[in-house]
Amino acid sequence: MTIRGIINNLAICILLTLSSCSKKISTAINSTTTINSEASMKKPYVILISLDGFRWDYVDRFSPPNLSKFIKNGTKAESLIPSFPSKTFPNHYTIATGMYPDKHGIIGNTFYSYDKNSIYRIRDRKMVEDGSFYKGSPIWIQANKANMVTASYFFVGSEANIQGVKPTYYYTYNRDVKNEARVEQALKWLRMPEKKRPHMITMYFSDMDNVGHRFGPNNDEKLSEKLYELDSVLGNLFDGVAKTELPVHIIIVSDHGMLEVPFEKYIPIEDLMNDELYRTINNGVIVNIHPKDKSKTNMVYNDLKNKEEHFKVYKTKDAPYFEYVPEDKNWGGIQIIPDEGYFFSARDRIVSAKENSRKISGQHGFDPQLKEMHGIFYANGPTIKKGYTIPSIKNIHIYPLLCQILGLEIPDNIDGELKEIESVLVTDE
Ligand code: AMP
Ligand code: ZN
Ligand code: ZN
Repeated sequence: MTIRGIINNLAICILLTLSSCSKKISTAINSTTTINSEASMKKPYVILISLDGFRWDYVDRFSPPNLSKFIKNGTKAESLIPSFPSKTFPNHYTIATGMYPDKHGIIGNTFYSYDKNSIYRIRDRKMVEDGSFYKGSPIWIQANKANMVTASYFFVGSEANIQGVKPTYYYTYNRDVKNEARVEQALKWLRMPEKKRPHMITMYFSDMDNVGHRFGPNNDEKLSEKLYELDSVLGNLFDGVAKTELPVHIIIVSDHGMLEVPFEKYIPIEDLMNDELYRTINNGVIVNIHPKDKSKTNMVYNDLKNKEEHFKVYKTKDAPYFEYVPEDKNWGGIQIIPDEGYFFSARDRIVSAKENSRKISGQHGFDPQLKEMHGIFYANGPTIKKGYTIPSIKNIHIYPLLCQILGLEIPDNIDGELKEIESVLVTDE
């Protein structure tokens, strides 16, 4: 190589290094806010509580005392409509960002990522904590940008560095942490000195999802037992918050409801797999098919279509239940959707359930229009109407409401709209 060639190569190397440096700087634009700005200190407080799998009809069916009182003193929606697929991770992150899964990137509890050539799974800590999966500006980041201190006792996305930051105070997810400890910590946060006190707090409780999966949503005895336990812990939170005398808004939501699915309606996913031709990503109610050779997509589609039995096969652009035409390439080219009430699962899980004489389970993920998939929206606080009910509402609209209460800018690229939900707020006349 000539001297000139060497110099040229060196120049290219330096340029490449500089551009990768500037890329790093531009993705990590934020630093964690540890002290509230003067303006933030004057803002109210919000606790966003997610009760995983809490179906829209549980309060009416079981009358838990603290939640019933909470609703009476505030606003409720007839139900909260999840986004498709009505699974935990996509919907929590929709609530956190105001975006549909197709836009925010967490399109399933499990999905294949072309950019990383790897599979995101909610049990894989490395994946869950990898901020590059999470698009949009979740509410704690939006608050952070306004120099507002934030906190999380669990929420999907809160353990990942998104745009370079996490909530000011946060915990790595551990399902064994007692609900009482979560509540105690939230109250401690509210008792911190003003400058360090978080204004946006997220919390998460998985109890109703667990009991719903295990016994189905029609087992009144098991559901009410768990619900009353949870209600009592929430009662402690409500009482503790009232004692702070701070302007705290509490917004209680769930990610989805639950449908009874007998094990005889489980379909073994192995029956549809063909590792040579395509990758199969199963979320129970939607199976993403990624043909390894794109030119064989039609062949794979026709082959799967011929096997239709209690499920249907679609090209991704034609798949039902989406609120939009899916664009994220991580969906893959073909979707398999079970008929209502059917569910794909690994064969050994189905066999072991049958061996243990289990007949019934609860599942979710289905069509968001199905009322059984609907969750809850209950809100209470100084700017929330009392004794007020709004019709069923989509979960994309919660985020702009949170922004409005906290005086944060509402990003213009979200799917949710303030006008769809602002009637819950008191108007000053
Ligand atoms: P699913 O019912 O399959 O949609 O998922 C619900 C499960 O997600 C719950 O049992 C939780 O244990 C789990 N989960 C919730 N939040 C997190 C988190 N931040 N990290 C890992 N797992 C979580
Ligand atoms: Zn869930
Ligand atoms: Zn679940």
